[in-house]
Amino acid sequence: MNSLAMNIRIQKKLDEIKHILTKVYDYSSEEADKYADLLIEEYKSEAIKLPVINSIYILNKLDERIKDLQTGTDFGVNISKMSMRLEEIVKKLEDEWKRNGIGGNEMDNTVSSKINPSYKMHVLVKYECLECERSFILSKKYVDDLKGLDVSCPYCGNYNVEDTVIMDDPEELDALGCMGIGHVEEWKLESISIAGIGEIKQSEVTQLDITRELLSSQVNVALSLTDGTYIRTNNRIRDIQVKFTNGETMSIGKYSKLS
Ligand SMILES: [Zn+2]
Repeated sequence: MNSLAMNIRIQKKLDEIKHILTKVYDYSSEEADKYADLLIEEYKSEAIKLPVINSIYILNKLDERIKDLQTGTDFGVNISKMSMRLEEIVKKLEDEWKRNGIGGNEMDNTVSSKINPSYKMHVLVKYECLECERSFILSKKYVDDLKGLDVSCPYCGNYNVEDTVIMDDPEELDALGCMGIGHVEEWKLESISIAGIGEIKQSEVTQLDITRELLSSQVNVALSLTDGTYIRTNNRIRDIQVKFTNGETMSIGKYSKLS
């Protein structure tokens, strides 16, 4: 068989794998593409070391994988999916931590609404202008976000202003209703629970690294904590729970059984 025909056969098998991943394992098509890319990369690098014809080895491996996926004996496939999604989340978290500073002491300039925790009510600060003696109210978050830029009086433009009252009581801020200032925040990590270690709050974490061996069920978690300690786990973890501020939880290692 010529190599073009071989490539077509390999491609067909990869398409079949992607089809199973999206139909049975709830993969998005991007996730399925990524999985298939990694799979073929792995098989090619294995095949190159062997004294057999590469494409025959790859075809056999793909057939085995298809069988495992169809019979539900490939537990790693669900973990791969979860870790791909987790990877996305971790990327977002890292971006957020870079923006807001890492770990502890987060955001005393907003208060979560009781009705909707992802709605952050802004702590309000009343300023008085020492020149024209008028007062004005600003969101503490907006002032903090200015990072060192001075607040000026909206009436006379003078920078000679003083903060006189701060309103950070959740009840009072809630009572302001739509008169208050706030924003809806995307969910973020609240805590991570690891079997045998317990629950670790995001505010206790200074650095989080989650990596995975995509084609096996290996998940590696490394956490640096604000108290200077360090946690590292790497095994075939079935019970890492990740909790988000919007109440959602995600379990790494949860897999659905084929019926
Ligand atoms: Zn003024």
